[in-house]
Amino acid sequence: MDEDLFKGITLDDIKMAGGWSVSAGQTHLYTPKERELMLRARAFAQQELAPKAPEAHQKVKEIKARYEGKERRARLREIATAYLKTLGEAGMLGALYPEQYGGSGSGVAAQCIIDEELAAAGHPGESIRSVSLTLGTISILRFGTEAQKKRHIPPRLAGKELSAIGITEPQIGSDTSRMQTRAVLKGDRWILNGQKRFVTGGGLADHVTVFAITDTSAHPHKGMSCFIVPMDHPGVTIRRQLDEVIMADWMDNVHFEMNDVDIPKENLLGPLNAGYHVLMDELDTERVTYCMASLGSARRAFEVAAEYSTKRVQFKQPIAMFEGVSFRLAEMYTRIDAARQLVYRTAKMIEAGAPAQLESAVTKLFVAETVWKVVDDAMQVLGGIGYTTDFPIQSIFRNARLMRIGAGSDEIMKFLIAREVLRQIKG
Ligand SMILES: Cc1cc2nc3c(=O)[nH]c(=O)nc-3n(C[C@H](O)[C@H](O)[C@H](O)COP(=O)(O)OP(=O)(O)OC[C@H]3O[C@@H](n4cnc5c(N)ncnc54)[C@H](O)[C@@H]3O)c2cc1C
Repeated sequence: MDEDLFKGITLDDIKMAGGWSVSAGQTHLYTPKERELMLRARAFAQQELAPKAPEAHQKVKEIKARYEGKERRARLREIATAYLKTLGEAGMLGALYPEQYGGSGSGVAAQCIIDEELAAAGHPGESIRSVSLTLGTISILRFGTEAQKKRHIPPRLAGKELSAIGITEPQIGSDTSRMQTRAVLKGDRWILNGQKRFVTGGGLADHVTVFAITDTSAHPHKGMSCFIVPMDHPGVTIRRQLDEVIMADWMDNVHFEMNDVDIPKENLLGPLNAGYHVLMDELDTERVTYCMASLGSARRAFEVAAEYSTKRVQFKQPIAMFEGVSFRLAEMYTRIDAARQLVYRTAKMIEAGAPAQLESAVTKLFVAETVWKVVDDAMQVLGGIGYTTDFPIQSIFRNARLMRIGAGSDEIMKFLIAREVLRQIKG
């Protein structure tokens, strides 16, 4: 039997170098330094990371199948820290952080450019990198004391320590004002009690940035504070390994409990009762970097689909020749191009220190819907093979769905946008 009869188009037939679809128009918006960074990040991601990503996914799978609890977390942590070390050596970490703490100080837009390129390579360590170095650490830079910055930022940028962020609880998600976790000051110690759910990388982290209510008599927006909680502290217990049940290929995600966790007074992050402000500030940066990373994955899905469509023959011609397919590709390309510009605009605002809550929400909403639509279309272009694990589309698809829920759902973005728009009319 002719072996070729068994073979359709495989991933090996996709030859174009990742990133080919980024429009010249977008790079025209970038400064010369940003353009150079984009090319450097892309070359590193495509040459060093992308070829190793399938093997790393396999290793994560094997560890999860073979080990449990601490042993499993220690092994996953090894992969995550090794990944960060590789990125650090290539100069791909720390754009958000000044040089004095081990960063490059290049800024939020630079971080977004790196995020797009790294995400397009599809390494499983990416979710840990983004929570550890953005979500869990950015508030320390913005609101931490000098001692906190010196203690926490350099080891995280060196890939020696990991962090995560704990906002969500079993009873609260979108409505952070109903937070149940409490922190009470006793002498010179804060005592924390409560639970945090869906903490990405929480099982691998040395510290989690935790939000808790410190003044129950005030409106929660004026009675919430932020803390740096060591995960090996007595009273911290991981209750459930949630990545076991999460739809996407998640490396680590936990539900943990805090029972009389007493931490030094100095672990308060930012002013007392200003936690809501710390959270909103963190979310602006989280949303733009998350947007660009998700766009990087959607770009990969688009590029694979576009090339596939030129090779897959049905009805005696490449499917790209059918307008139903080529117009779909045109729409995907347009959506990605527009979304990237929006992210870049908002990143520049945050970098300049301008209030960007409205723009972050607009960007998050638009990008989440864009990414979902583009990846759904990519799967359609590939047909049945796109639904299998032979191609990366299905895993990008599952992660893309999360974007419409995590870091503030589509509905919460609409609520924020409507509130700001109507506030402008009311004055
Ligand atoms: C894989 C994964 C990773 C995560 N990582 C983290 C993490 O690292 N740290 C962390 O703290 N959290 C994390 N989360 C939690 C995530 O941020 C929440 O799931 C998200 O904020 C939504 O909260 P919820 O799930 O409680 O949904 P809910 O708030 O219960 O919302 C349910 C539905 O109701 C809608 N809804 C709620 N309020 C309104 C309203 N006012 N108007 C209209 N519709 C509304 C929502 O849009 C949604 O559709 C993660 C979640 C997942 C799945």
